[in-house]
Amino acid sequence: MTAIDGSGTARARCVLAPNPSLMTLDGTNTWLIAEPGAEPAIVVDPGPDDPAHLDRVRATAAEAGQRIEKIVLTHGHADHSAGARQLAELTGAPVLAVDPQYRLGAADALGPGDSVRAGGCELRVIETPGHTSDSVCLLLEADGAVLTGDTVLGRGTTVIAGDGNLGDYLRSLDRLRALADEPGLRALLPGHGPLLTEPAPTLDYYIAHRAERLAAVEAALDAGCRTLASIVERVYVNVDRALWPFAEWSVRAQLAYLGERGALPPGVEIPGVLPGPLPHPLGVHQQHRLGVQLYPAAGDEVGQCLVHRLP
Ligand SMILES: [Zn+2]
Repeated sequence: MTAIDGSGTARARCVLAPNPSLMTLDGTNTWLIAEPGAEPAIVVDPGPDDPAHLDRVRATAAEAGQRIEKIVLTHGHADHSAGARQLAELTGAPVLAVDPQYRLGAADALGPGDSVRAGGCELRVIETPGHTSDSVCLLLEADGAVLTGDTVLGRGTTVIAGDGNLGDYLRSLDRLRALADEPGLRALLPGHGPLLTEPAPTLDYYIAHRAERLAAVEAALDAGCRTLASIVERVYVNVDRALWPFAEWSVRAQLAYLGERGALPPGVEIPGVLPGPLPHPLGVHQQHRLGVQLYPAAGDEVGQCLVHRLP
């Protein structure tokens, strides 16, 4: 277990799921939220459908004298949502989600400005589409913390999934950045990786990273590149070639963004379908042990992109 497991704030505690990979970093962070001393608790992102993990989530709550009253999803990706049905059955708690297909029980919709409450604890929904169209962040104002799902990760940067949109994502980052300027915001609690105690510089980095990538893609277009493969070859020259097919997904999202703004030169085709699933999951720890350099050359970005884009 890494340092993220068991860490958190006064009202939020992380139960790390045992599903590490390049896409999930150490694993999925399941967050248990409750008012100190109060019984009702909210689970944010139950994680994978792993009975041992769900048992541990329930045991962690029970040890603290808490009862799981609500389950909330930051978005529908399986590494966050697949355990929701089982946890709902075990606890009787409803599942709240933006996408109706993930809602269970007497669950209301989850929309911007809505609040999820349990025993005096409140999570305010912040609409942050981009990574996926159904992504939200949750403001735990009492602790000066935002649960960010996959919109902001504890390490590396996240990527635009198949139904995500770069323009939406940039607006979502701006929304979070504005929140970071408000007094009292002290921590980001991500869906993967360690919690982040400097929200404003973290979001500045995310926004700058996006701008840099976009500028690099535009430079490749200016230099005459017209295919995904040729753009990747130029922009991701320092990245392991094995990851290039997946970098195409990232570039595709950027070309779509430029296309929406009428900023694509003639002759660029944005394919609708991209390479198939990974032959095997790439574990970030394995990669590091093997000495494969994933930083600073977008390895994480590409890795998350690739798995999150799978059907
Ligand atoms: Zn995701």
